[in-house]
Amino acid sequence: MNFLNWVHFFIVFHVFAGTPHFSLTDSSKQLTTNFLDAAKRPEVFDWMVRIRRKLHENPELGYEEFETSRLIREELDKLGIPYKHPVAITGVIGFIGTGRSPFVAIRADMDALSMQEMVEWEHKSKVPEKMHACGHDAHVTMLLGAAKILKEHEKEIQGTVVLVFQPAEEGGGGAKKILDAGAIENVTAIFGLHVTPAFRLGEVASRPGPLLAGSGFFEAIISGKGGHAAIPQHSIDPILATSNVIISLQHLVSREADPLDSQVKFGHTRISGEKDVMAEHNSSSHLFDKRDLGSKPWASCTIYLYDKMLFQGHSILRAFLIASISPQVVTVGKLEGGNAFNVIPDSVTIGGTFRAFSKQSFEQLRKRIEQVVTAQAAVQRCNATVNFLEEEKPFFPATINNGDLHKHFQTVAGNLLGINKVNDMQPSMGAEDFSFYQEVIPGYFFMLGMQNPTLEKLEQLHSPYFKINEDVLPYGAALHASLAVSYLLKHPQDLPSAEGKYHDEL
Ligand SMILES: [Zn+2]
Ligand SMILES: [Zn+2]
Repeated sequence: MNFLNWVHFFIVFHVFAGTPHFSLTDSSKQLTTNFLDAAKRPEVFDWMVRIRRKLHENPELGYEEFETSRLIREELDKLGIPYKHPVAITGVIGFIGTGRSPFVAIRADMDALSMQEMVEWEHKSKVPEKMHACGHDAHVTMLLGAAKILKEHEKEIQGTVVLVFQPAEEGGGGAKKILDAGAIENVTAIFGLHVTPAFRLGEVASRPGPLLAGSGFFEAIISGKGGHAAIPQHSIDPILATSNVIISLQHLVSREADPLDSQVKFGHTRISGEKDVMAEHNSSSHLFDKRDLGSKPWASCTIYLYDKMLFQGHSILRAFLIASISPQVVTVGKLEGGNAFNVIPDSVTIGGTFRAFSKQSFEQLRKRIEQVVTAQAAVQRCNATVNFLEEEKPFFPATINNGDLHKHFQTVAGNLLGINKVNDMQPSMGAEDFSFYQEVIPGYFFMLGMQNPTLEKLEQLHSPYFKINEDVLPYGAALHASLAVSYLLKHPQDLPSAEGKYHDEL
């Protein structure tokens, strides 16, 4: 989406933000408010805790979630919920409701991380070097919790809720495989969440538009000629070459990205009648020059202030913008080479990640990483190969939240938790493969807080000391269920469709 479109998107969004067209009907409000109480019932809560602990003890990496998948199917069987399996190797797609359109999906990722758990507790990971340190054990549990609640209210569901238990989020791009399998083709909206210690228990956070960055990985082998460290003239030193490569990679963002892209910019625009036009620019700034707008890889802009005024008989919307963002990052996180004090090694391997919000910036970084590694290695007489590992670690697009679904989320979460518990969130350079869904289906991703200030402080995601506050489980279950059910109530079936046969519809 180019910048003008972003401007219009946000203007239209904000103009309508003041109108109550996203309010829930009384029955929907009543139904979904009860979902939190339903999820907190001891028999549901204790059941979820048991499932989560079982998953935590038996973490499985991406596309190896066979026991996780089996546990999910066993629980769905007990609940009487039909499903498709296998999808994307270990994935499970469940169905609750009429079996007919409209279809709305709620998604949980299933995989663990390759790391050793350092938390000493009764339900510590039983598998060395594998750990649910990103909370996906809680995500699976919350989706099962939602399934249980929804099944109890199946008669009130006007359409079909599709449960997406997805493998391999941690770099494996399981979401893409679910899509490639055609498993959720007729779904018209999808919701996903992630637990976070960054917000308090009972609070949520998100934003419309760009939320998380597009992400890619690279690995480079820099080859020289090994030899005695005291006789360097007989060797070609890949360690020195690699040092220069890393320094040069760090110049990509600081020297080649437009520094203005991370600055605050002001301007104003107007909407006249039905036609949206970017008609006026702040005369003190060249930043909204049309040439700039067309070429810049803008990823986000936020309206700071707008007002309506009459101008020559037309209603004019003036909007002042704070427009950033095309942030980028390149980090080398892996460096392996040499294992003796007095030996120049043959080769060095480095690996890292690069991230950006716009596709243009992302492609530019990819191109320049390859050029910089090979050319800089050549300066020191080394050869280099760069591998972007797209087979094992596909590039993730940026996570871009749908504006209408943002309003839906605010209404539903506000109703369930209280509107003061629904926080705005700044975009983050983190990445999520939920973005693959959002490329083809309107989607919405949000963060679910679990920090309790009266208890111990929870560690960040991916920490070996990461812990889940299990009190979060009912909140995730209730939010999943509420978002899906109230979406269906607001989007009644438009067209008659075949009788409820899941495989005919999806
Ligand atoms: Zn993670
Ligand atoms: Zn995660």
